[in-house]
Amino acid sequence: MTSVLPGSADAAGRRATLGVMGGGQLGRMFVHAAQRLGYFTAVLDPDAQSPAGLVSHHHIQTAYDDPAGLAQLADLCQAITTEFENVPAEALQTLAHTRPVAPGAAVVGIAQDRMAEKAHFAACADVSGVTCAPYAVLETPAQLQAIQENRADLLPGILKTARMGYDGKGQVRVRTAAELAARWAELGGTACVLEKLLPLTAECSVLVARGCDRQVASFAPQRNVHVGGILAVTHAHEGNMPPALATRAREAAVAIAEHLGYVGVLCVEFFVVDDGSEYGRLVVNEMAPRPHNSGHYTLDACDVSQFDLQVRAMAGLPLPQPRQHSPAIMLNLLGEVWFDANGQMQEPDWHTVLSLPGTHLHLYGKMHARAGRKMGHLTITGPDVVSVKRVARRAAELLGLPGLDAI
Ligand code: ATP
Ligand code: MG
Repeated sequence: MTSVLPGSADAAGRRATLGVMGGGQLGRMFVHAAQRLGYFTAVLDPDAQSPAGLVSHHHIQTAYDDPAGLAQLADLCQAITTEFENVPAEALQTLAHTRPVAPGAAVVGIAQDRMAEKAHFAACADVSGVTCAPYAVLETPAQLQAIQENRADLLPGILKTARMGYDGKGQVRVRTAAELAARWAELGGTACVLEKLLPLTAECSVLVARGCDRQVASFAPQRNVHVGGILAVTHAHEGNMPPALATRAREAAVAIAEHLGYVGVLCVEFFVVDDGSEYGRLVVNEMAPRPHNSGHYTLDACDVSQFDLQVRAMAGLPLPQPRQHSPAIMLNLLGEVWFDANGQMQEPDWHTVLSLPGTHLHLYGKMHARAGRKMGHLTITGPDVVSVKRVARRAAELLGLPGLDAI
C-alpha cells in the first residue's frame, strides 16, 4: 500500500481524506487525531447527532450497509477504518474492493463472533502462551444436552451470546444445568458460548498497533476495574500489575495480532486468575478490533495516542514505539454522573473537578445522559503515582463515581 500523506491533495485539489465506519466517541477521537495531522475526515453513521459526525468534515448519514453510502465513503476517502466491531463485515468487504480498509473484514468478522474469536485464541495459544477460559459452544439442543451431561466443569459459568455483546450485555451467570437451559431459552436459543466462571484477581488490556508493513508498536498493559460489567477505572502506571505478568500480556497481545495478520489498532483483554501461584495466571478474554476505552489515557499520558497510531496504521505511516511520559488513571463518566440522588438532572461540578491538578476532561458531545451511557472520561496525570491516585480519588468522590475503593 502506498502511504496517504497528511495534508496532501490529488490532481483535482481534493484533500487527503480518511474515513471511519461508525460515529461514536471512538470515531470522534479518531477524527480529532486525523485532523490534527491535516487530514480531512469522513464518518458514516446513521445518527444525525453522532459524536464523530458532529466534528467531521463529511458525515454520510446512512445505514452501515447502504450501498450508496458506502460508495460515497469510498469515493471521498483514500483509506477507511472502523470504530466499532459490530459494523457488518460485508460492508468492510465492499469498501475493500476499492480502498484500503484497516482492520480488514476478515479479522473484524472474527472479533464479532465469540466462537471464532476463541477458536483463534486456541489456534495461536502456542505462540501467545495464553489460553482462554474453558468453554463450550452452545448452538443446538443436542449441544445443550451434551453440556448438561458432560461439562459439569463449566458450572458455575457465564452464558454469553456469540454476537453483539458489549458492556456485559448479552451475558448471564448460570449455576446449574437446569438454570443453563432456562437462561438459554430466555436468550431465544441464539448461538452462545458457556464459559467457566473464573476466580479473577485482576483484569488488564493491551493495545497493539500493526502496520501493513508488519511494523508493531504497543503500549504497556493497563489494569481495568469494571463495575456492573462496564469499565469504571483504568490504571496506567508503574506498579499497576506485577512486571512479569505485564510482559507476558504484552507479548501475548502482539502474538495474537501477528497471527491474525492484523493491520490497525487492536485491544486484547486479559483476566488474571487466581491459581494459587504468587501472581496468578494470565487468561485471554476477548479482543476489540479498534482503539479501546481502556486506552483513552494515551491521549494525555503518552507522546503518541492509540488514535494517532490508528491514523498512522491505516495511512501507511511509520509506527513509532509510544512513550508514556506521565502515570495516569482514567475514570469513565457514565450518564449517572448527570443525575443527583433524587434522579434530578444536574450538570456535574466541572469547575471544582478542573481545579484539581492534572485533570483532563473529555466529553463526547452526547446530547442526552442516560444510566450506563458513556458520556465522557476524565484522565488524571501527575508527577508520580501517589499524587495521581490522590487526585483521582478526590475527583471520583466529587463526581460520585463507583469503584472508589479500587483507586
Ligand atoms: P466489553 O465488550 O464491554 O469488554 P463484554 O460484554 O464483551 O464486555 P466480557 O468482556 O466478556 O463482556 O465480560 C465482561 C466482564 O465480565 C469482564 O470484564 C469480567 O469482569 C466478567 N467476566 C467475563 N467472563 C468471565 C469469566 N469467565 N469469569 C469471571 N468473570 C468474567
Ligand atoms: Mg470485555
